[in-house]
Amino acid sequence: MASDTNRLLILPGDGIGPEVMAEVRRIIDWLGKHRGIAFDVTEDLVGGAAYDAYGSPLADHTMEAALEADAVLLGAVGGPKWDSLPFAEKPERGLLRLRKEMDLFANLRPAVVFDALAEASTLKLDVVKGLDIMIVRELTGGVYFGEPRGIETLPDGSRRGVNTQVYTTDEIRRVARVAFELAGKRWGRVCSVEKANVMESGVLWREEVQALHDEEFSKIELTHMYADNCAMQLVRNPRQFDVIVTDNLFGDMLSDEAAMLTGSLGMLPSASLGAADKKGRRRALYEPVHGSAPDIAGTGQANPVAMIMSFAMCLRYSFDLAEEADLLEAAARSVLGGGLRTADIMEEGKAKVSTGVMGEAIIGELEKRLAA
Ligand code: NAD
Repeated sequence: MASDTNRLLILPGDGIGPEVMAEVRRIIDWLGKHRGIAFDVTEDLVGGAAYDAYGSPLADHTMEAALEADAVLLGAVGGPKWDSLPFAEKPERGLLRLRKEMDLFANLRPAVVFDALAEASTLKLDVVKGLDIMIVRELTGGVYFGEPRGIETLPDGSRRGVNTQVYTTDEIRRVARVAFELAGKRWGRVCSVEKANVMESGVLWREEVQALHDEEFSKIELTHMYADNCAMQLVRNPRQFDVIVTDNLFGDMLSDEAAMLTGSLGMLPSASLGAADKKGRRRALYEPVHGSAPDIAGTGQANPVAMIMSFAMCLRYSFDLAEEADLLEAAARSVLGGGLRTADIMEEGKAKVSTGVMGEAIIGELEKRLAA
């Protein structure tokens, strides 16, 4: 791979993964042709498809390619065909290996409400209209990984289950740094979320985030909030937030809560970032929040927008192509505004289209914008 081009590893995966990734491939070709942006693209297998071809949900050569690439774009993994495989060979293990060996400690989950879909939210229009928040969840530490853990039998025959919430200075600061840097490119506000009122790890979290802020990011507005209050505020007045940074457990819940403010799974992108290299480029994996949707795979019904928006995040955060990311997001917005809908977001009076037609319409809109 040449080192001066944008090195992208594409892993379409299973189910609708290859279908939605095909639409991203068209956009990549379009960017090369019309904007002169070249990507050095390698494509390989992950999940069940990799198991079928290589006998493992992520082959070693694919893992090496992921570590060498500037960014990895993943579709989805899994499906009934592989459900009975032993744990270590299940499709999901491929994704977990990627996250672990790339050391992706910051999970970015935007919750954006497109005007055209605002009425589909379960919340009132005036609460969610224009919503654009980013949840940064710590992904590799905290109670999901802390030791000691396990279930033990006590002398009286009853049992005790234990998990440990544990964070170090470095783990807190590196994810907080990602949040401050993101806020610098957005509206300049970070809300740090923990339970410092009842947990020592929360006290440390609050102190370290504040200290990093005071030392390096004093231009960013920093507030602190307890996680239970944040859960409430997200449905009461979600637009008060810009970037939320929180730990693994609270982030798991709050990011799903925020996602549901926005409507369909087929619209939600994500990014997972790791440490920065010497050039300041972070290891990165971009993927839609949804899974492989075996119930609709092969029917042309998949919504490609989550995958395409994941690619827009990749342009913005891995390749510093903010203008192209803006263009792509605006194109998707206008296609939805124009009334095209895949089945998952279909509403009365709108035009139901296939995965391919949605992708084509977004490219058509890119072309219009370029010509304007
Ligand atoms: P899912 O996200 O695949 O599907 C849930 C529902 O949402 C389905 O009805 C599906 O048709 C619909 N849906 C999802 N994405 C859509 C899209 N882009 N357009 C239109 N409709 C869409 O979750 P699931 O059904 O619980 O899991 C199916 C498989 O995916 C399982 O094997 C699971 O393990 C795997 N999975 C993988 C990932 C991942 O790769 N990151 C995430 C979640 C689930």
